[in-house]
Parts: sequence; C-alpha cells; structure tokens
Amino acid sequence: MVAISEILERIKKIMKNQDHIRNIGLIAHVDHGKTTTASNLIAGAGLLSMERAGKDLGKIDYDPIELQRQMTIKSAEASLVYNYKGEDYLINLVDTPGHVDFGGYVTQAVRVMDGAIVVVDCVEGVMPQTETVLRQALKEAVKPILFLNKIDRLVKELNLTPEEMQKRLIKAISQVNDLIYKYAPEEFKKDWQLKVNEGTVAFGSAYDGWGISIPIMKETGITFKDIIEAYKINDEKEREEAIEKIRTKAPLFKVLLEIVINHLPNPKEAQKYKIPRIWHGELESEVGKALLNCSIDGPAVACVNKVRVDPQAGELAVARLFSGTLRRGDEVYLNNAKRRIKLQQLMVWKGKQGLAVDEITAGNIFGIAGIKGIRAGETISKEPVTPFEEIKHIFEPVVTKAMEPKNPQELEKVINALNKLATEDFTLKVNINKETGQILVSGLGELHLEIVETKIKRDYGVEVKAGNPIVVYRETVTKESPIVEGKSPNKHNKFYIKVEPMKDEIYDAIVSGEIPEGRYKGKEKWLHEKLIKLGMDREDAKRVIQVYKGNMFIDNTSGIVHIGEVIGMCLDAFKEVMNNGPLAKETCSKIIVRLMDAVLHEDAIHRGPAQVIPAVRDAIVNAIKQASPILLEPVQIIRIDFPSQFLGDITSIINSRRGQILEMTDEVDHTIIRAKIPVANLFGFETVIKSATQGRGFWSLIDSKFEPLPKDLQEEVIRKIRERKGLSIE
Ligand code: GDP
Repeated sequence: MVAISEILERIKKIMKNQDHIRNIGLIAHVDHGKTTTASNLIAGAGLLSMERAGKDLGKIDYDPIELQRQMTIKSAEASLVYNYKGEDYLINLVDTPGHVDFGGYVTQAVRVMDGAIVVVDCVEGVMPQTETVLRQALKEAVKPILFLNKIDRLVKELNLTPEEMQKRLIKAISQVNDLIYKYAPEEFKKDWQLKVNEGTVAFGSAYDGWGISIPIMKETGITFKDIIEAYKINDEKEREEAIEKIRTKAPLFKVLLEIVINHLPNPKEAQKYKIPRIWHGELESEVGKALLNCSIDGPAVACVNKVRVDPQAGELAVARLFSGTLRRGDEVYLNNAKRRIKLQQLMVWKGKQGLAVDEITAGNIFGIAGIKGIRAGETISKEPVTPFEEIKHIFEPVVTKAMEPKNPQELEKVINALNKLATEDFTLKVNINKETGQILVSGLGELHLEIVETKIKRDYGVEVKAGNPIVVYRETVTKESPIVEGKSPNKHNKFYIKVEPMKDEIYDAIVSGEIPEGRYKGKEKWLHEKLIKLGMDREDAKRVIQVYKGNMFIDNTSGIVHIGEVIGMCLDAFKEVMNNGPLAKETCSKIIVRLMDAVLHEDAIHRGPAQVIPAVRDAIVNAIKQASPILLEPVQIIRIDFPSQFLGDITSIINSRRGQILEMTDEVDHTIIRAKIPVANLFGFETVIKSATQGRGFWSLIDSKFEPLPKDLQEEVIRKIRERKGLSIE
C-alpha cells in the first residue's frame, strides 16, 4: 500500500501536466464487470492490495439499494496515479451507472469524460445498456476502447475451442464497432473503429485480475492457448498458480491503463472538439480560446456534472475544470443560479475517499464540498460567462405518480427528500401544487419511481403513499393554422398569431440538447447556422427568440414601434400555453408559434401585462385549435431476452399491449425481441414477463419517444385526463 500523502503529492504534480491526464469512465451493462474492473484499476494505483482486487466487490459501490440490486446507481469518482515508462499519469475515473432507468446519471457523467472503457461480458455480448450508455457517450464525443471481460467463462462454462472463442470475440468487437459507426460524430465514425491489431481491444478476466491485448501478448509471450490451458487444469491449487502467473505477467490494470494512456485523448486534445459541442459562446473570445486550449492561465470555467447529497456530509458537487485555475477560498460565480459563492473545500479522490487540495488546474475533475444549492449542469467561473449547454438526458420523464406521506404531518419531510433526490437525478421531476399541496413525481418508468419511494423511506425515514402511475402525454398540432387575431381586454391591442408543426429534425435537435432551450436575441450565429442546416428558412432562423419545452416562438413582425416592450409578455403567454395545451392541459411539444403582426396602443399604460398576456394567450390557443391538435403518447422501445421456448407467450403479451415487434434475433438458446410498446400498456410488464417465462426472461428500456396516440383513442384519453384534472368535458 502506498501512503495517502505520497499519492496526494504525486497527484498535485501531474495535475498541471495535461499531456499526462486522462478523464475516463467505464461503460457496461449491469453485471458485466464494471465494478470489478474499477477495483482492478484502483488497485493498480496502489489503493487496494493486488491479490484482492478482483474480489473486492462493492468497493466503490456504496448505496445499499445498489448492493441489493447488484448494480451501480450513482457515480463514484476515483483519481488514479499510474507510472508508465518512468512517468506518472493521472487517470480520473468517473464511474457510470449501468441501468437505463437511471440514465440521467450517465448523461451527467459523459459530460466530463474524454474517453471510455466499454466493458462487455464476452459470454453475453453487447447488451441493451451497453448500447444506450455507449450511445450517450458517443453523442458527447467520448472516445471508446473495449475490454472483453470474463474470458474465463468461455473456457470454464462453455468449453470453447480457440477457434470458437475467436469467433465469439470477433462478433462482440464488430457489434461494438457497429454501434460506434452508428452513433459516433461524423468525423470520428471511421477513426474510432476498434482494431485488435492496433491494441484498442483488451481481453481478460476482471475477477482473476489479468488482461491481455496484442501489444501485451507480444511483450509477455502469453497466448490464448496458455490461458485456455490454465483454466483447464483440474487441480485447484495448480490452476490458481497458473492463473497467478498470467496475472503477474499481465495484470489487468496494466493492460487497460496503457490502452487508456496510448489511445484515449488527453484533455487538451479532447477539448478542441468537445468545447464547440457543449459551449456556445464566442470561440474567438478570451474565454473561448482558453476553453479550446484547456489553458491553465486562462479564465477559470468549470462545469458541474453531478451533485450528490450525502445524508451526513451534505452536498458534494463534482465538476470538471475546462480552463483556468481554481484555489481554495476563491470567490466564484454560478452562472445558472446567478449568485456568488466562496469555494471552501476543493477535493480530488483516492478511491471513493476525498482528499482536500488547495488548487485545481484546467483539465481535471474535482469535487466541491460544503456548498448548498449547486445543481448539476451549473457553470462556475470567476466572472459571468456563457454557460455550458444544458445536460440533457436522451429520455424524458413519461410516468407520474402522486405521492403523499402516510402521516400528513411529515409533508415537509417528503418534500425535502424529493427535492434532494431531484438534485441528484435530473430525470426526476417534482411538481408541488402550492394550493392543494399535492406532490406529483415524474420519472422514466415504473421502476424508477419505485426506487424513489424506497429511497425516501430508507434514507429519510418517511413512509409515502403513492398513487397509481399516470402516463404523461403531450399536445401538438398536425397542420398549419390560419392567422388568428387576439384582442386585449381593452380592445386597443391586437396580436396576429399563426402556429404550425415543427420539423422532426429540429425537434430532435432540441430534445438532444444540440439546440439549447432558452431566450435568444437574434445574434446567435451558431444557432442560425444549425437551424438552416436542419432545413429552416434563413430569415426565420434569425427570428427565433425562444425555445421552450420543445416548442419555438418566432417573431415575424417588423417595424412595429414599442414591440420591444411587449415581447417579453408575449413570451410569457407563449410559455403559459405550452405548459397547458388546450386539449387536456398537457405540455405542448413540436409547435412553432409565430407572431405575424401586432397593433399596439401608443400609451404604455394601456399595453401592460394584463392586456397583452390574455390577448396573445387566446390567439395561440385559438390557432392551435384550428391546426388539428392531437395528443402524443410516450412509447418505449424495449428489448426482451427470454428462453426461446416461450416465444409464443411473449409474442401474445406484446400483441395484447398494443405492441409492435421490430426485430427478432435467435441466439443459441434464447431469443431477443425488440418491440415498441406504449407506456400506457407497460404497467406491470415486469411481473407479466417474469411469470410467462418462469422467471427467466427480462426486459430493458432501449429508447423512449412520443408518437401520435391512435385516432380511435384520442377522444377517450382526452376525456379521461380532463376528468382527472377536474376540467370541463367539451
Ligand atoms: P457491474 O454490475 O458491471 O459493476 O459488475 P460487477 O463488477 O459487480 O460484476 C458482476 C458479477 O460478475 C460479480 O459476481 C463478479 O464477481 C463477476 N465477474 C466480474 N468479472 C468477472 C470475470 O472476469 N469472470 C467471472 N467469471 N466473473 C466475473
């Protein structure tokens, strides 16, 4: 064991040597060996004793629910120091969760990563979470390498010959390469393809602590044959000794960390292409240049990717410093919260243990303790700057449950607990009706909300009663409306509004965060270029002044005196309608609202909010009503894995739930079906699948989107929502 003080000294030294820093994470399907692999890496940095590395499960898992479920829900950070060819490297390891229902954490983690080790169990191959998490990483230009884990199982359980083994491994590599081709940014699709010969793929057993790659095989002389023979030894002691020999020559941490060092980018290289994707300020400005160059001397700008609330220690923010230097005691500005704070405590990690430091320099991941109210996605700087792009999850919340304390006196406690949980996980949305006190909690699925209930009870000691899950719908329009007039109550102001459906390409770019939501001033050239590229007319692109919940407001007026004074009120009215659509007061989506013209009273007193807001609101509502509005329902693409003998049962379950089979693959003894099923028909799915397959089938979420609710259901669903909300039935 190396002393903490020594590690800390070494960390401090390398922190400034950016060529020697790698910010990476591990990506894996649940149970493929992420935690075990992380323990190996940490062991390589002198934290755990070597022999125990593989067996030290749960070392960076620390949430009892995770342990129960055998998965990693929250990220846990680690800073590793590795000496390669006589020089120290600092590897900042961001741990990412494997379960898609907690995907919010993944999106946050990939923001601060430049590279990823994709861990795949070579017996199971690429699984749903490998795909979803890798997809999110690639979306933020995180470069992958591959670790094919559990090679021992190929010998011990499947008894494969070297040829069969090779075939299986090649299949897994090409599956990952297909995903890279599909989801990587255009310029990297080819360059990032994994090639065994170039040494970007490692094979090994995290449990037994060894790993090989082509370069390591050349260096050590170890062959696949040696490995197969070692595992085939009958005598346990002899077998262990043979494996021990391989581990000593080729420890897993060595092979992985060397691939990381040789093939994954350092922060200086990565920020060149990462910054233009996640920061939309002026790249030619002082801040822009500092960010692109990861400059230690430039202005300090950091992005918070995660906030963890520790019931004892309070809030801990994890961030990456993209440029400049931060010191303990510095006063900094939170650009989203719009307030100043003092940095009381800065830290790095050794395993999951925080180590206090006085200074952090550009290119590093660090923690901030002792500060309340920082949210994930926050941009920290000394002087106000353009904030980083909002961190968005690829899925939106689609299921809501009303929650209340079993004991009414504990309302405060429940609200407090929910707010804390939502601080950590921003796919969780909490809405509290101030008048009725009703709490509505929305999440990515039934399981997600069940975990929330368990956590409130376990971590905050409050029992909650939860209502039935309710599906979250959206309202949209299907054609262009005529121009509709809205008159103010005093009849002196008139607004002319038109609405139309938004193009899919533009909507997708908003959902993915590529087009950030917010207020625009018509001066954002990058936005205009993006919109034009997505098919919008140049003149319109410049006139987009607000993007809100997947909708857009375009100001098409010109030459109207005083328009500047009322435009803010028009946007307030716009947001009001987008939050409560006319069909069933569900959120609107994919609607473009245009202000075509306006007549304003000369006197400011007669064109205040009480006049303008109702006029614009009525005009938008009436325009939507004339644009064939419909409800969109959430549908999820799921993957079901089950023993092939149950094919008939599974197919009929899918059919009975308005589902549609998209793809069916036969593996050796099991079948994989990809199906699309409306969220409204997914409740209780877990139980149904388990009982239909004698507990052997399972399903996972692959994708989630909104699609038009079938025509014959529109009226009925609208009526039910209106009834539930106590609205008049028209
Ligand atoms: P995670 O869910 O991806 O973090 O996976 P874990 O690291 O918790 O591993 C899941 C299970 O697989 C545990 O029981 C590990 O002991 C086991 N495991 C991990 N690596 C290997 C390996 O190389 N070979 C075998 N046979 N089992 C492994």
